[in-house]
Order: sequence, then C-alpha cells, then structure tokens
Amino acid sequence: MIMIGLNLRSANREDIMHLTFLGTGAGAPSLQRNVTAIALTLSKSGDTWLFDCGEATQHQFMRSALKPSKLEKIFITHLHGDHIFGLPGLLTSRSMAGLLEPMTIYGPKGIKQFVETALSLSGSYTGFPLEIVEIEAGEVLDDGEFRVIAYPMNHVVECYGYRIEQHDKPGFLDAPRLKAEGVPRGPWYQDLKEGKRIRLEDGREINGAEYLGPATRGKVIAIFGDTGPTEAALALAANVDVMVHETTLEAAMAEKANGRGHSTTIQAAEVAKQAGAKRMIATHFSSRYLSGDRERLLAECQSVFAATELARDFAVFEI
Ligand SMILES: [Zn+2]
Ligand SMILES: [Zn+2]
Repeated sequence: MIMIGLNLRSANREDIMHLTFLGTGAGAPSLQRNVTAIALTLSKSGDTWLFDCGEATQHQFMRSALKPSKLEKIFITHLHGDHIFGLPGLLTSRSMAGLLEPMTIYGPKGIKQFVETALSLSGSYTGFPLEIVEIEAGEVLDDGEFRVIAYPMNHVVECYGYRIEQHDKPGFLDAPRLKAEGVPRGPWYQDLKEGKRIRLEDGREINGAEYLGPATRGKVIAIFGDTGPTEAALALAANVDVMVHETTLEAAMAEKANGRGHSTTIQAAEVAKQAGAKRMIATHFSSRYLSGDRERLLAECQSVFAATELARDFAVFEI
C-alpha cells in the first residue's frame, strides 16, 4: 500500500479520514489504471463510503486494505459505464459473503432502474436491505456527523459532484477544573459538554461554555463527478480541505476535453485556486497517459495550484 500525501494536522489518529483511490482511469480500464472508484473511510467509525463504482471495483477493493463489511454507502456521480458497471457484481458478492448490514446507493435518476434491472435479469438478489435513492442537486443526507450536498456538473449526461461536510466538534470539557472547583460528577456533565448552563443543588450556576476547550473544525471534502468548467465548481469546492477533481486531458487539449464534458489539468487547478481549496488530488486520467506522463501532468497542475497531488490506483491519502 502506498501512503502519500501525509497531512497530519491533528495528533488524534481517530480524527483522520482516508481517501483510497481504487480506480483513476477515464472511460476504459488500462493496464495501469482501473476505471473510477474512490473510497472515503470515515474517522472513528471506520465506515467506508464509495464514490462511483466502475467495472471490477470489487477486485480493486479486495486488493486494498479496505474492509467490505465496512462499506455502508455508495454515491454515484453519473450513469456512464466507467462509473457504474461495477455495481451489480459488488452488490451480489457482498451478499454472497453473507454480509447483512444495510446499504444505501445514491445517484442520479436511472440508478434504481439500472441496479434493479441488472439484478433481476441475472436472477440475483441481495440478502441485505438495499435502498436506492435518486438524488437531485441539494442536500443528500445529514446523519448528524456528516452532511453531503450534491452540486450539478457540466457533463454530457446528468452528473453530480459531492461535498462532504463533517460537522464541527465541540471542545473537550475541562473535568479536572470542574472537580477542583467542587462541581460533583453527575448526569449534568452531558449538558456541560454541550455548553449549556446547569444549576447545582447548592444553588451555584455553572456555564458549560466556560469549561470547554476550543472546538475542532469539521473537515470538508469535495469529490467531483466528470465535468467541464462550471460555475457550480466554486461552491462545491469552497474552502475545502481536499478537492478531488478530474483531469482527463492535458492543458493543450482543452477544446477536446471540454467538448466531451471533461476538464484539463490547468482547468481543475484553476478551480482549486479560485475556490480556496487547501489541497487538490487529480484523477480520472485518459488512457493515453502512461507513467512517464505523470510528471508533466502534475507540473501543469502545480503551475496554477502548488498543493496538487496526482492519484494513482491504490494510493491512500490521509485527511
Ligand atoms: Zn468518466
Ligand atoms: Zn462520464
């Protein structure tokens, strides 16, 4: 496993999330790259959310350190084959492995028909509860810890980019100081942790907010779908910790890229710069590019946005 792009801003390992690139190729697989699939492993729970599921994603999954039992949600950006042809196989294998945890798939209109048709025509089923949610632009979910918002992309079919916002976490309660001031431990600690005021039996009023350390800002990640330049990009990537953007073609091929609803290295880097992203990971490379081209593609991105890294299959980025 390759560990690149270390960015340890917090001493607490529990707070770190991981992005694992299972496929970084555009359109068709090559010997060097599988088609698109990106796994986001959440901090603490270790739950894994998959963004797109190109053909053979389940093979890539097996070759990675990811745990199939932790795969909880799949977000599909659009219905092109290089982003969804891996779904039926991945779902049925998960079922055959006896995994019973529910799974939810989010994607544009048509995703439900695609999955249900593939399963029913092949006489397949899932032994676990499978929910398929067809989305539109706007909030997709808020589970209390994370909020996911879909933004429309500029592609040749309906396509979305996902902004994943982790809610801010309140600071730690200064228990030693409360103890020193004679505040007994009790169920009111929970209120104090939430910054509320409580009244003790002796009549004293304690303001929890005065005993809380600094809050931890939640992390924000933008995962783009296939797209040419679009205004929505700036809102999707505004001030994110990490922006994952396609760079299907090199800078000199802008006309060809944009004509097919794709971006170049420079165009992606411009988004990162203008949106105030802290870091950009480029992916979804045309199969015309071989390993020898990586340095050149990276240099093009970095000429506009220095904090760019290029993904490769099985690369893991800490966030
Ligand atoms: Zn694609
Ligand atoms: Zn596409």
